[in-house]
Amino acid sequence: MKKEFGGAEHFIEDSRMEMANALAKMVGIKAISPISGGAGEGKRADFLQRMLQGWGFAVKRYTYIDETGTERPNLVTVLGNNKRTLWIITHTDTVSEGDRSAWKTDPFKGVIKNGKVFGRGTNDNGQEVIASIFALRALKESGSGMKRNLGVVLAADEELGSEYGMGALVRKGIFGKRDMFIVPDSGNAKGDEIEISEKSTLWLRVTVLGKQVHASTPQDGVNAYRYAIRFLNEIDEYMHKKYKKRDKLFITPSTFEMTKHEKNLDSTNIIPGKEVSYIDCRILPRYRVDSVLNDMRRIAKAKRFGKARIIVDVFEREDATRPTSEKSEIVRMLKRALKKQRGIRAKCVGIGGGTVAKPLRKLGMQVAVWSTQHDIAHQPNEYAEIDHMVADAKTFAFLCTG
Ligand SMILES: [Zn+2]
Repeated sequence: MKKEFGGAEHFIEDSRMEMANALAKMVGIKAISPISGGAGEGKRADFLQRMLQGWGFAVKRYTYIDETGTERPNLVTVLGNNKRTLWIITHTDTVSEGDRSAWKTDPFKGVIKNGKVFGRGTNDNGQEVIASIFALRALKESGSGMKRNLGVVLAADEELGSEYGMGALVRKGIFGKRDMFIVPDSGNAKGDEIEISEKSTLWLRVTVLGKQVHASTPQDGVNAYRYAIRFLNEIDEYMHKKYKKRDKLFITPSTFEMTKHEKNLDSTNIIPGKEVSYIDCRILPRYRVDSVLNDMRRIAKAKRFGKARIIVDVFEREDATRPTSEKSEIVRMLKRALKKQRGIRAKCVGIGGGTVAKPLRKLGMQVAVWSTQHDIAHQPNEYAEIDHMVADAKTFAFLCTG
C-alpha cells in the first residue's frame, strides 16, 4: 500500500474494473431525451439508484414530467454531517448516436477495450457519473474523515436545456447558499483547465421573404435567396468587426456562425420566395446580448434590403453570468488538490459552450467546471479513458477529506 494514498483513494484504485464495468453497463441503457424521440432517463436512473441503494445510500429521486408526458428523474445523494456540501453535478441523458455507420462498435453497448470504454454517453457525461458515485462509495466504505459533505446530483435533461433537470432542482432550492459546486462536463485530457466563465448563447432564425416567380422572369419577383446571401454576408463581416475584443480566459473572441439552412424548393427553375437560415452566436460576457440583437435587426431593416422582408427572431438565448472568481474557494481548493494529489498545475479558462454552471452562477454560487477528459462529446466512437475516470473519482474524494 502506498502511503500517500488515503483510504478512499485506495478503495477507488481497487475499484477500477468495477467502475469500467458499471460505465459499460450504464451506456447500454439508452437515455435520450423524449423531445428527441428517446425514452428519457428512467431506466438508466433506476439502474444507478439500485446501485447506490445497494451500497447503503439513501437516494432522493426528484421526478418532473416533461411536455411529452415522460418522467424525467433526478437522483440526489449526500454523504456526511457537515454544514457545507461540495456538490458534483453530472447528467445522465445523452444525445443520439448520430451517423450510425461512423461507429466501429454498437453505440448503445458499452465496450471495454485498451483502457477505454466506448459507447454513446461514455464521455458525455457517463465517465463522471460513475466517478462521482464511486467517490461517494469510497468515502463511505473507507470511513475517511470528511471536512465537508459530498453531494452527488445525477441530473436529467442537460442536453436540451435542463428544464426538468438542474433548472428544476435549482428552483426547488435544494442547494445551500454556502455550498460549492463542481460540474465535470467540460475539460481536457491533462485535467489542467478549470472553467470559470461561459459565453452568452444566442441562436437566431433569419427568415427572408421575397416573391416566388418563374426563374425566366426575375423582374416580376424578389429572389429571397439573393437577399439572404447578402444579408448573411453583411452580418458576418459586421459582427466580427464590431465585437472583436478578446478576453484572456477565452481562446476565441465572440463567434457568429451560420449553421442550419432550411430546404427551400425542389426545382431549379423557380426563384425562391422564402429562405430560412440560422446563426449560432457565442458572445463574450463583456458584450450585451441585446446590443448584438439590435444590430442584427437594424441591418435587417436597411434600405438596401428593402425589396425583401428580413425577420430575425430568437429561439434560444442564455445570457452570460458573472464568472466564478479565480480567487473563489472552490477554484483555490481544486487547484490545491490537483497540485498536491496529481502534480497538475491548473489554469482558469472560459468556454463557448454552456453547462449547468450557468443557472448556479446566476444565483451567485461558486462553480468550477472541471474534469479530465478528451474533447469528444457528441462524436461517433465516443469513449472514456478509464484512467481519467479513476483519477477524477480520487480528486472528488480528496476534496472532501484533504
Ligand atoms: Zn454533457
